[in-house]
Amino acid sequence: MLNALTPQAPDKILALMAAFKEDTRDGKIDLGVGVYKDASGLTPVMRAVKAAERQLVETQDTKVYTGLAGDPAFAETLSSLVLGAARPADRLAAVATPGGTGAIRQGLELIQMAAPEATVWMSDPTWPNHPAIIKYLGMKAGTYRYFDNETGGVDFDGMLADLAGVAPGDAVILHGCCHNPTGANLTLDQWRAVATLLEEKGAVPFIDIAYQGFGDGLEEDAAGTRLMVEAMPEAIIAASCSKNFGIYRERTGLLMAVAPSADKLKVTQGAMASLNRVNFSFPPDHGARCVSMILSDDALRADWAAELEEVRLGMLSLREQLATALRDRVGSDRFGFLAQHRGMFSRLGATPEQVEAMRRDHAIYMVGDSRMNIAGLNAETVPKLADAIVAAGV
Ligand code: PMP
Repeated sequence: MLNALTPQAPDKILALMAAFKEDTRDGKIDLGVGVYKDASGLTPVMRAVKAAERQLVETQDTKVYTGLAGDPAFAETLSSLVLGAARPADRLAAVATPGGTGAIRQGLELIQMAAPEATVWMSDPTWPNHPAIIKYLGMKAGTYRYFDNETGGVDFDGMLADLAGVAPGDAVILHGCCHNPTGANLTLDQWRAVATLLEEKGAVPFIDIAYQGFGDGLEEDAAGTRLMVEAMPEAIIAASCSKNFGIYRERTGLLMAVAPSADKLKVTQGAMASLNRVNFSFPPDHGARCVSMILSDDALRADWAAELEEVRLGMLSLREQLATALRDRVGSDRFGFLAQHRGMFSRLGATPEQVEAMRRDHAIYMVGDSRMNIAGLNAETVPKLADAIVAAGV
């Protein structure tokens, strides 16, 4: 039977990580991988997470299964963090999932269960796992224009023009903040316009929020998601704690669905719990429990928010440094968009040949579409990257 297997297309980002590892040159720079790194290149365990883990070791007296939806305290605290005052308690179904990816997968299966013929729309470009999962599930996929390579900003006219083709009952994936891979984000007015359009079309927003707190701040980064939830009769939201709590390997995520009415809450929650049951039964608990402990303890929460803010400001400073270094070299503000982008990533707008030249001549690794992880830089490597960008003729 297994003889029939054929090789799967390699994940480009994982292949890049392997190539970086094999490169023996001193001073190589990894801007490929999608994890936060501090100035010394480490991805530290956050202080509040360590403290919660210590407390958990001391106080946890059983590791028996949670419910299918995970610990209710996790759903409550994380959904409050994401949705704030917009949280519709009487219509909000939520289940814990293995990471944000698990929430996306379960959310897509929920759409498939409710509307097997629905088309799921994605920005072009988007995080490659969106189309990969949609294809694997055999769902119909559509794309909308998103990024303007000339300006480094959002091609909002193109986006609206393409979303005009959405049919009633379709789902539209939107990045809640810190768009991956481009770093270009919608303004609140643009979120409002998208909400109006989707409501007119009878489509459902599916918001993937994986970087809350990495862009403009915890509240600011959730503003688009909250606006959608308030404006639309239904919404699906996949939240990840991997980045903002630094618990990548704990696989901590939450799938939320806003039901069209309080009457439909029970059946929505039941559908989501049953999808957990058939896919993996009970969701992982360790990371989720640490998150809910942090969010419900004033001191831990304040310490976590302060450390997250340091991370955010560090990335913003690197953006400014890179934009300035490039301005000094090219004599124009052509790369000013790098300081406008938010989150961990920016799309530089280089050709695949230029990306390859930077790897070959300068040992600088970025994804082939010229996505750079800004957190992979530090004060010493910013000028090196700026030199390489200019040398490659970007
Ligand atoms: N959505 C986006 C846009 C992401 O970039 C990521 C992580 N790379 C995820 C979701 C999922 O993250 P995780 O499964 O690690 O929580």
